[in-house]
Amino acid sequence: MTDVEHAQLAPFTTFGVSAVCERLITVGTVDELREALRRYPDARILGGGSNILVTQNVEHPVIRVALRGIALDDLRVTAAAGERWHDLVTWCVDQDLGGLENLALIPGTVGAAPMQNIGAYGVEQEQCFVQLTAVHRQTLEEVVFTKDQCHFGYRTSIFKEEARDQYVITSVTCQLTDHPHRLHTSYKDVAEELLQHHAPLTIRDVYEAVVAIRRRKLPDPAEIGNAGSFFKNPVVDAETFSRIHSQHPEVPSYPQADGTVKLPAAWLIDQCGWKGARHGAAGVHDRQALVLVNHGGATGAEILSLALEIRSSVQAHFDVELHPEVNIW
Ligand code: FAD
Ligand code: NAP
Repeated sequence: MTDVEHAQLAPFTTFGVSAVCERLITVGTVDELREALRRYPDARILGGGSNILVTQNVEHPVIRVALRGIALDDLRVTAAAGERWHDLVTWCVDQDLGGLENLALIPGTVGAAPMQNIGAYGVEQEQCFVQLTAVHRQTLEEVVFTKDQCHFGYRTSIFKEEARDQYVITSVTCQLTDHPHRLHTSYKDVAEELLQHHAPLTIRDVYEAVVAIRRRKLPDPAEIGNAGSFFKNPVVDAETFSRIHSQHPEVPSYPQADGTVKLPAAWLIDQCGWKGARHGAAGVHDRQALVLVNHGGATGAEILSLALEIRSSVQAHFDVELHPEVNIW
């Protein structure tokens, strides 16, 4: 366990904004985590910092979860919360085991992944999820959450809602498959990327396709500070969709099983003229309107202020409310 007073958080978040926390404690085992929680019960929890915008100095201790280890039992893989998610995906693909390949190259840690039920290219984490272990912040007991108990939803889970700030996730178990025909290749970009491949497709083909698409399309936080999609895609009722569609017949839309319709937030933001906009060092990415960026030296408050302006303009233009996907500190 390391415990550093007045630590700079910029190197630990992908937005890279400057902010100091009261102390930064890094834990490598469950016992160290318990000890840290016992000493600092009001601590904030940090994984890879790829879904957090720090808007001011943090008047709390911050516990960085760095538990390591990956183990395979039959077709179930269990990874400790501090493992990098992409390393877990790569490890599985190297064993020729499928299930996680569409979620390749998502930044961050294994422990944070269930928080928002990470998803990409037609797959969400819940599809292969078996269970997780988590330490309760008050009792310090380690408990198991099965899939049903996690209440997964679109980019959400019990850990963002009813059980918010109550648990620290310590490990995640996923169900893998050795059947290559269970591949998810219908997402448009993936299908196009795989057009050149000859059948039969392998798990590695899908993994490499997703990696190639992401490298080409998405801003790399190592080059430009960002936290991926700043807002969630809004899911609107049929009446709202029909109003927007009558004014903008070209609006992309994804009907949901319950009659609601998912709209791409990137399209709504782009229609309001934000793509590539810059307010000082805070900006909107010039190819991905949903990604806010730190061009260098932006403060978290400046990025948040830009986000609020974008939200207001989408509300004014479409009467649709955007909700941040990024966690604001
Ligand atoms: P952090 O940012 O450190 O934390 C996120 C939240 O989880 C915080 O509230 C934190 O307190 C909490 N938390 C972290 N670890 C734990 C733990 N062990 N126990 C309890 N709480 C914890 N997301 C997607 O869903 N799909 C994508 O395709 C995707 N693409 C991205 C692309 C880019 C370029 C970037 C920068 C981000 C992207 N994201 C995507 C968002 C992000 O990578 C994920 O949400 C990721 O799971 C966050 O992991 P993290 O370890 O960085 O979490
Ligand atoms: P895209 O392919 O340009 O599509 C835009 C949006 O439309 C996506 O957000 C996606 O929703 C939705 N969409 C596209 N095809 C769909 C389908 N067949 N069914 C349902 N919804 C569909 O998206 P992109 O920006 O290049 O991102 C590609 C994938 O990576 C997406 O799945 C996206 O979620 C993920 N991603 C996430 C983040 C993040 O930080 N959360 C950042 C980068 C990329 P979904 O988002 O629900 O998939």
